[in-house]
Amino acid sequence: MTKYVGAHVSIAGGVENAPINAAQIGATGFAMFTKNQRQWKAKPLTDESIEGFRQNCEEHGFSAETILPHDSYLINLGNPDPQKRAKSLESFIHELKRCEALGLKFLNFHPGSHMREISEEECLKLIAGSINSALEATEAVVPVIENTAGQGSNLGYRFEHLAALIDQVNDKSRIGVCLDTCHTFTAGYDLRTAEACDDTFAAFDSTVGFTFLKGMHLNDSKPELGARVDRHESLGQGKLGLTVFEYIMGDSRFDGIPLCLETPEPEKWPDEIALLKGFAQ
Ligand SMILES: [Zn+2]
Ligand SMILES: [Zn+2]
Repeated sequence: MTKYVGAHVSIAGGVENAPINAAQIGATGFAMFTKNQRQWKAKPLTDESIEGFRQNCEEHGFSAETILPHDSYLINLGNPDPQKRAKSLESFIHELKRCEALGLKFLNFHPGSHMREISEEECLKLIAGSINSALEATEAVVPVIENTAGQGSNLGYRFEHLAALIDQVNDKSRIGVCLDTCHTFTAGYDLRTAEACDDTFAAFDSTVGFTFLKGMHLNDSKPELGARVDRHESLGQGKLGLTVFEYIMGDSRFDGIPLCLETPEPEKWPDEIALLKGFAQ
């Protein structure tokens, strides 16, 4: 098995450009939005766009396993307000269907926020209920829960949150998780040394399980360990350093899933991807 390394690439001009943008930076996997991530509404994907996307993926060697689409930042599946939650669910289902139309397998999302109106447990229950509704309304795409830095009232900053969600999802074959190295670290799990990585990923394995891991976001961190702030940094330039990235690239538990940079300087992505590929050899 191999490592699929890439970045969250642009869809400017149409989703069909994402695989081209990924190939240009030397990526073997990638992340993307399927629509403008800051708007609720999107024009339906045209047949040309869908066909172009599929063709470009094939031409550049990207299969559905190597691509991790990300949903809109507006969606909050745990919103305590029933009407706002329903709007989020509708939008989430819409995004899952866009992924289906594109032949994609996963949809990465942030669990949700309790807005300081309900408890974490209540919010996790609402999120799980939304996921179950979304699974019933769609065919095959697997929602992939991303762990968070725990900024504000965002849930997903403890591995136990991810486990609680999976536990309440009816169809366990259609749920996955994505770990973001920056979020993991600022949520309080150390990753600065090989020993710390051993401990953190052992905790992840016993609480959640590597079988659910469908992707990683590889980001260094501007904030300190446990700061609960979400600010990415270029690899080796932040508080994490390069050890964790060398560790991941050398560990078979991270084989066969997209490993995507969301680092702040896209002009560095070709070098960062080359660096990561070098760690795998
Ligand atoms: Zn991320
Ligand atoms: Zn982030």
